[in-house]
Amino acid sequence: MNFNIEKIRADFPILHQQIYNRPLVYFDNAASTQKPRQVIDAIRQYYEHDNCNIHRGVHYLSVKATEAYEEARKEIRKFINAKSTCEIIFTKGATESLNLVASSFGKRYVKPGDEIITSIMEHHSNFVPWQQMCLERGARLRILGINDCGELDPGELNAMMNEKTRLIAVTHVSNVLGTVNPVKEIISLAHQHEIPVLLDGAQGVSHLPVDVQDLDCDFYCFSGHKMYAPMGTGVMYGKEIYLEELPPYQLGGEMIKDVFLDHTTFNELPFKFEAGTPNVEGVMGLRAAIAYLQELGMENIAAYEGHLLGYATEKLSAIEGIKFFGTSRHKASLISFLLGDIHPYDAGMIIDKMGIAVRTGHHCAMPLMDYLKIPGTVRASFSFYNTTEEVDQLVTAILKVKEMLA
Ligand code: PMP
Repeated sequence: MNFNIEKIRADFPILHQQIYNRPLVYFDNAASTQKPRQVIDAIRQYYEHDNCNIHRGVHYLSVKATEAYEEARKEIRKFINAKSTCEIIFTKGATESLNLVASSFGKRYVKPGDEIITSIMEHHSNFVPWQQMCLERGARLRILGINDCGELDPGELNAMMNEKTRLIAVTHVSNVLGTVNPVKEIISLAHQHEIPVLLDGAQGVSHLPVDVQDLDCDFYCFSGHKMYAPMGTGVMYGKEIYLEELPPYQLGGEMIKDVFLDHTTFNELPFKFEAGTPNVEGVMGLRAAIAYLQELGMENIAAYEGHLLGYATEKLSAIEGIKFFGTSRHKASLISFLLGDIHPYDAGMIIDKMGIAVRTGHHCAMPLMDYLKIPGTVRASFSFYNTTEEVDQLVTAILKVKEMLA
């Protein structure tokens, strides 16, 4: 594989530290990824040379910062192959992007008796906004189930869609099960009924090449911090035809065209959805993160992470009493598991003491936990900076958990 792992790891300062006198093994990448030096440097560069509020001034720094910010928008457009930069809305993360769509789409299109379809595997961020919007508007939230491997069934979706369905909101990749959903098939089915589809891309965009025109999704929402960029950055991609129609989400500076005493007209896209001073330094970091990912190549990343996932699945499968949640053939690089009836928190604490960061709990997916009838899982999620040696250390740690608690 065309991957210089030592060189890559050298780019991530945080990885080179000892935790409890052991080298840190960071397997909590689905919660947030670490940042390469290039991203940290971009933020420093911004504050040391370019810092200024954007879109507002005619002076040198303001113009420079504005240009850099708008360049970042162009890079993101290219990265996900959107048709136009006016379809790229900066937000503070996937959660804000999803709230934006749920709120604005609800106001514009959803009436009492209408239906929204989502799935049982959603993160709360792609569930609660739809649930609450449906409650407010007298609409009905319908929930797609999963099979034993943790996969959605497009056939079930087909049977669920009807003339009342206004939108389908599903995740591209599950943050609990790792399943890469058959989103192209879902979108194609939905479009046969002229129903738009929103994809929660929080776990998709850092692992897979994403081409929103090829997918033909109507909305795609993601966070910067899960793709090696700073916290507090994110994107809401929406097709221009929808964004033109949707009312603004937040009101204030930047998003207006003219303000009168009794009414206001709104700015053109994308600014209509970007009220207030944005996270400019974060966007500078996001731009650097995208450049970093493009340098590695998303196809290469997917191949290397697929190799790690295969290795980890094989090694962990050999552990007696382990139970996996999410066994689809189409998975991104994460593994959710339980060890007999050992509580995931107890397992996580012992694994932590061995220098390995895994996540334990419900992973912000309580409806899924209820459906699976479990309190939570232990989740190891891998990045391209992880290694098979680190997976071996996880296996040793799991055996230690069993020895101590089983
Ligand atoms: N959707 C999924 C699938 C996620 O994994 C997450 C983060 N765990 C989110 C949405 C929310 O992302 P954020 O907290 O960055 O807004």
